[in-house]
Amino acid sequence: MSEAPTQKPPLTIWSDPRLQAHQSSGYHAERPARLDAALRGARSVVAGVHGQERSIPAPASREALSRVHDPAYLDRLDAADALGARVQLDPDTYFGPGSLGAAKLAAGGAIAMVEAIMASETDLGMLLARPPGHHAPHDRAMGFCLLNNVAVGAAHARALGARRVAIIDWDVHHGNGTQDIFWRDPDVLFISLHQAPLYPDSGWVNETGEAEGAGATINLPFPAAGDGALYAAAFERVVLPVLDEARPDLILVSAGYDGHARDPLASMLLRDGDYAWMAARLREASHRLCRGRIGFCLEGGYDLGALEAGVGATLRGAVDPASHPTPSSGAPPPAAARIVDGVVRAAAPWWRCLRDDPSGRSISAA
Ligand SMILES: [Zn+2]
Repeated sequence: MSEAPTQKPPLTIWSDPRLQAHQSSGYHAERPARLDAALRGARSVVAGVHGQERSIPAPASREALSRVHDPAYLDRLDAADALGARVQLDPDTYFGPGSLGAAKLAAGGAIAMVEAIMASETDLGMLLARPPGHHAPHDRAMGFCLLNNVAVGAAHARALGARRVAIIDWDVHHGNGTQDIFWRDPDVLFISLHQAPLYPDSGWVNETGEAEGAGATINLPFPAAGDGALYAAAFERVVLPVLDEARPDLILVSAGYDGHARDPLASMLLRDGDYAWMAARLREASHRLCRGRIGFCLEGGYDLGALEAGVGATLRGAVDPASHPTPSSGAPPPAAARIVDGVVRAAAPWWRCLRDDPSGRSISAA
């Protein structure tokens, strides 16, 4: 029995061994050992700060999933599951017995985390789940993802009364599925930092949302070999000012670790400490804006050591932001700095903070 909660835990993580029922028949990069590694990283922090670990109480309901996914797509998944066969849902995305149960449980984890945060049972949460979600658009599976966990969580927060939710996606791949789902939604701010060109070949500067959602999507597509200095420039120039102006009631993070220098699927150069300071700055923003409410959802990350270390660094940064200052490691390369300037220009029509920079600065010198 757990003791009665007399005080909010400094950190709560959600995971569940049943998520490991999603397995490919042969080797696949999105494999159960990933979750074991991520859990090792998270548990090392939970133990150190007397945080809490919870299992996922229930799979996401049809109602919760239908907020972000087409009913016809959900029917197709149910039909594939009923067959019990192994199929490829797209060239990258395997599906077998146990896959749909795991995917619904992963999405249910996002719901459980959001409910606990919105009910003030905890402020800082992390969902350690697989399959990941951010490539799944409203109507199909894509890029190892079946159901869009972070989107299900954001929509659930809105249903619980959050006026606006911000999703920051630092997975090295563009969060095309999340972008698709909230493309016309002014109440979910989506900011993605990713390597481009790279799978899924979207997330360009001019993709800013449509109709009511115009301006609520911001993409930072960076060339390969981007490092902490580049991400720091992007945070200071775009991510943090826009968050402050958006004033969300909840911050969610699509936390992938495939931007790590050791990851085999991409070519960015992030280090453990870069995840710590990014998490620290977002946690500080959550304290300024929404009573510290922030939830991290595991996305990609395919080097097990980098994944374990990155998750641990993220949680250490979020628990104790003051101990993880942004590194001052010099200016980003000119090509990358020009992209940040281009993002500012593309998003400026909707964001006063990007128009009224008192210093009039541009981060690219020329
Ligand atoms: Zn990824």
